Amino acid sequence: MRIDVLTLFPEMFEGVFGSSILGKARDRGLVSLSTLNFREFSTNKHHTVDDTPYGGGGGMVLKPEPIFGAVEHLLEQGGGGREPRVILMCPQGETFSQRKAAELSEESHLIFICGHYEGYDERIRQYLVTDELSIGDYVLTGGELPAMVVIDSVVRLLPGVLGNERSAVADSFSDGLLEYPQYTRPPEFRGWSVPDVLLSGHHAEIEKWRRMQSLERTLVRRPDLLEKAELTDKERHWLSLMRDKIDSGNN
Ligand code: SAM
Repeated sequence: MRIDVLTLFPEMFEGVFGSSILGKARDRGLVSLSTLNFREFSTNKHHTVDDTPYGGGGGMVLKPEPIFGAVEHLLEQGGGGREPRVILMCPQGETFSQRKAAELSEESHLIFICGHYEGYDERIRQYLVTDELSIGDYVLTGGELPAMVVIDSVVRLLPGVLGNERSAVADSFSDGLLEYPQYTRPPEFRGWSVPDVLLSGHHAEIEKWRRMQSLERTLVRRPDLLEKAELTDKERHWLSLMRDKIDSGNN
């Protein structure tokens, strides 16, 4: 996969792209991660990328020319593959999710646009981008941190990036549920023991325990997720008993 990030602050990405799992994925050639400062594509002699909004009001608006210029430069380089997804980081966009991360991980080329200041000239949104993504209902100063969040979650899904392929499959949200509790050595710490079933070596029982724990944890912490999760009739029945038990405990 190839990932390009259009930003006014490319230095913000150096640590993130060079460290940990992203750094290793890049070193191993599983992903190419590059930044491009769209100020280079400014069409005026002062290299400005923003201007005051038509109609008045506070703040500065990112001009269309530098961003169109930078994206078109990347498109001209091509890659021979499918058309890239051009993703605008924006608090008004679709809320990012694990499902969206999985969808983007199937692509061969992603271009991220990181905004700043008051916002973007609307024509960027209308005529250039394929997706608008928000990382949540809050406003940050720029699109760099949101782009890093999205890139990290997409790259870790690429084949070969995580050492153990199973670890992404069992993650929270991958099957619509939160992940079950995890334990490691020692079996007893300050008098607190690891559940016996995990030490039993009985894989079927362990899987069953994990599934029940996932269901219970999701019911308690994120019951909204259960509406869309794939559940058996037996699980639905068990959940309704659990729900009654929780409700009677609260009354
Ligand atoms: N005035 C804009 C609005 O109300 O929608 C907010 C602009 S914000 C200060 C500047 C930039 O930060 C945005 O253009 C976007 O790139 C980025 N940004 C801020 N919050 C974000 C979020 N929750 N998700 C994605 N990007 C965000």
